[in-house]
Amino acid sequence: MSPDVRHDLDAIPAYVPGATVPGAVKLASNETTTGPLPSVAAAIAEAAAGANRYPDITARALVERLADFLGVAPENVTAGCGSVALCQQLVQAVCSPGDEVLFGWRSFEAYPIITRIAHAVPVRVPNRRDGSLDLDAIVDAVTDRTRLIFVCTPNNPTGPAISRTDLAAFLDRIPERVTVALDEAYYEYMRSEDPVDGVAEAMARPNVVALRTFSKAYGLAGLRAGYLVGPAQLVTSVAKMVVPFSVSSLAQAAGIACLEAGDELRARTDAVVAERTRVRKTLLEAGYTVPDSQANFVWLPLGERSEAFDAHCRDRLVITRCFAGDGVRVSIGDPDENDRFVAAAKEFVTGM
Ligand SMILES: *Cc1c(COP(=O)(O)O)cnc(C)c1O
Repeated sequence: MSPDVRHDLDAIPAYVPGATVPGAVKLASNETTTGPLPSVAAAIAEAAAGANRYPDITARALVERLADFLGVAPENVTAGCGSVALCQQLVQAVCSPGDEVLFGWRSFEAYPIITRIAHAVPVRVPNRRDGSLDLDAIVDAVTDRTRLIFVCTPNNPTGPAISRTDLAAFLDRIPERVTVALDEAYYEYMRSEDPVDGVAEAMARPNVVALRTFSKAYGLAGLRAGYLVGPAQLVTSVAKMVVPFSVSSLAQAAGIACLEAGDELRARTDAVVAERTRVRKTLLEAGYTVPDSQANFVWLPLGERSEAFDAHCRDRLVITRCFAGDGVRVSIGDPDENDRFVAAAKEFVTGM
């Protein structure tokens, strides 16, 4: 006989790690292709030498550096073990069992999982046809039980970002008792007109927080560091939910070093953005539907053909991320990696 566990966990899929295919190009996880900047690598090595000591439990040096970088007070910032951990802490901080968490769908896969873990109820609001969040429908879905809304912008995995004007109109219609989390994991890749600045929104409203990460543009996915910015009271509640010492001393040191390397980072994101434009244009010319992307990936809404496309790419040693029956997300890699993907995609069309 096995010990009793929560039966509601049956609804949560067990994590299946992505396949590693030798020699394949990995465009499945929205990572950067280059390692940490030299200055950041040096800071990590230095921190590693002190790894016998526990990290600062509040990551104070990182939080203070972030506050300075963002132009807010330290009490408006908390660091987490990746921003996904902060998403989970946020659900735990604002939801009681049975409360509802709203988000567009498709969006970040972690939202329904962390919601269920906290005994709350995920409510998915279908995106518009162009892959953008349907903000009007999200407003309409708010009920007395709604406690939290995740607004992922740019949206993973579909790509579009919402504008500052649309966000303001949306936030004006959300009751202040409901927390709105602006998940800006791809913030640094945005080049749209009228872009959202989640930190500014979070400082201007009592019920808005912004989530950002060092995993994507900063290239530290393996180290686990993210941060949340918002009203001090909410930040304090979220910080209470942290697993103690979960932001390692290496992650803290690397985060600080990243903030000091601003211009180098900008050059790296510019290169990804140029490739994103090129890949999308080529796919459109080949006859694919590709929503506008403001992140480091493109989305192909292939519906029932998604799995066949994913398998086709894998056969050509290109690993993409398949959402069966819905679409395929492909990260932007180096130019030669992207060429390999684009060649495979063109062949798929020709082969039909
Ligand atoms: C990658 C990602 C995150 C967080 O990543 P961490 O590595 O946990 O910081 C959060 N939200 C979205 C939408 C993402 O795509």
